[in-house]
Amino acid sequence: MFGKLNASIIKEIENIIGKENIIEEKEKLVDYSHDEFSLTDIQHEPEIVITPTSSIKISEIMKIASKEKIPVTTRGGGTGLCGGCVPAYGGIVLSTEKMKNIVEIDEENLMVTLEAGVTLKEFYSEIKKKKLFFPPHPGEESATIGGIISTNAGGARAVKYGTIRNFVRGIEIVLASGKIIKAGGKIIKDSTGYSLVNLFTGSEGTLGIITQATFSVLPEPDSFITLLVPFLNIVDALNTVPLILKSSIKPLAIEFISRKIVSIAEQHCGKNWPSLPGEIFLMIILEGMKQEIEKHCEIVAEKCLEKGAIDVFIAQLMEKQEEILHVRSMVYEALKPVTVEILDVSLPPGKMVEHILFVEEISKKYNVWLPTYGHAGDGNLHTHIMKITPDGSLVNNWKDTFKEIRKDIIADAIHRGGKISGEHGIGLVKKEYLEMCLGADYVELLKAIKKTFDPFFILNPGKIFDPT
Ligand SMILES: Cc1cc2nc3c(=O)[nH]c(=O)nc-3n(C[C@H](O)[C@H](O)[C@H](O)COP(=O)(O)OP(=O)(O)OC[C@H]3O[C@@H](n4cnc5c(N)ncnc54)[C@H](O)[C@@H]3O)c2cc1C
Repeated sequence: MFGKLNASIIKEIENIIGKENIIEEKEKLVDYSHDEFSLTDIQHEPEIVITPTSSIKISEIMKIASKEKIPVTTRGGGTGLCGGCVPAYGGIVLSTEKMKNIVEIDEENLMVTLEAGVTLKEFYSEIKKKKLFFPPHPGEESATIGGIISTNAGGARAVKYGTIRNFVRGIEIVLASGKIIKAGGKIIKDSTGYSLVNLFTGSEGTLGIITQATFSVLPEPDSFITLLVPFLNIVDALNTVPLILKSSIKPLAIEFISRKIVSIAEQHCGKNWPSLPGEIFLMIILEGMKQEIEKHCEIVAEKCLEKGAIDVFIAQLMEKQEEILHVRSMVYEALKPVTVEILDVSLPPGKMVEHILFVEEISKKYNVWLPTYGHAGDGNLHTHIMKITPDGSLVNNWKDTFKEIRKDIIADAIHRGGKISGEHGIGLVKKEYLEMCLGADYVELLKAIKKTFDPFFILNPGKIFDPT
């Protein structure tokens, strides 16, 4: 179905990007065979890795790849959690690691244009110098601009402003044919034909290669306040969330997490969460003008206490807030050694409690610990399927049971009107559930779109669905 690279094709590529932008050494290829998904059995090495430095060069390479039917898998920071940048069919990994220009910070229009390989960390730090703010915060700052657009990444700060999709205004893309297309621009409103910006957001490298993007940014907020609110149980904690949202206050983030998970994260990073009673915490972040958010903070605290909160801890010092966030951001790393997989189902927010109670039942049924935490303000939950039981012993047959557990949880989310991925994407590991979630007609339409953009299935084959 696919062509194979040979010395003469590699020479053609070398003539375009130079030897210094081709990696062929076996010991280096292994670094490009995986992302952050825990299981090693999905790893696959590419035949070569290329690190082009411009759209024009990518365009020339895509013309060759199209002619020779060579698979091309684009890789950003490799921080994905579903095998999205794994070159499942070998071929070329196109790494954007050398495309790091911040093209323009346009303060008049509040728009920033960047190359695809700029990391989130670099983006935040550059705009901070101009007192600008990019609200979305997918948890891993070594993710790249191309990666966060391609997965429509979310993170904790999506409650008030939404996911990456709400901020992408324009993109430059290289198609499988090598054509370079610019979609959108430095504009807020756009009803000019189908939106390729929206189509490419969340397309997981299967429709084209994003080489540049323009994002909306906001002025830096005057102040932040973080509230930590302990509850005795998950039901009280999550039932508080609609009450906060109905009070017309929109926090930047509303997260929930259990004491047990917090303790593991504390041990992992050596930092302490404030000492509070309770079993479940809501972490609520408010942002805006100081006086206004202080008033909002009082209202939120009242609503929480009304619903059974046993305390309200208010962090106003930035250092304290960062410490709390740091512990929260270490959760994935802390659980990783005994994690088989992290799920990211997205539910109608009102269905979260029922779904979590279902997950607790599944945990009992299989005697597997299924720690669940996440984005309480928008219904996006993270359940880790673990290799250990709730009391910490190793599950000997985890390789046999984890797919059953995954299927049960995914099926329950769909049954409650949810989707199988709220932010990580489908990648390699969730494609078998796509039709269960979207229906056959919908998937057929997606495949027709894929064929229009990539008739030979060479762009990131094996992701979202299998090549046909
Ligand atoms: C500790 C940790 C915390 C995380 N927290 C969050 C979180 O809170 N929210 C969240 O949404 N995600 C989170 N993630 C997942 C991950 O960071 C995101 O999925 C991120 O968007 C991936 O970006 P990347 O540059 O690493 O992409 P990669 O992993 O390299 O690739 C991801 C997908 O994007 C495609 N791609 C990459 N660049 C391009 C491009 N230029 N053009 C076309 N396609 C491209 C790839 O082919 C692949 O399909 C977390 C991951 C970790 C390890």
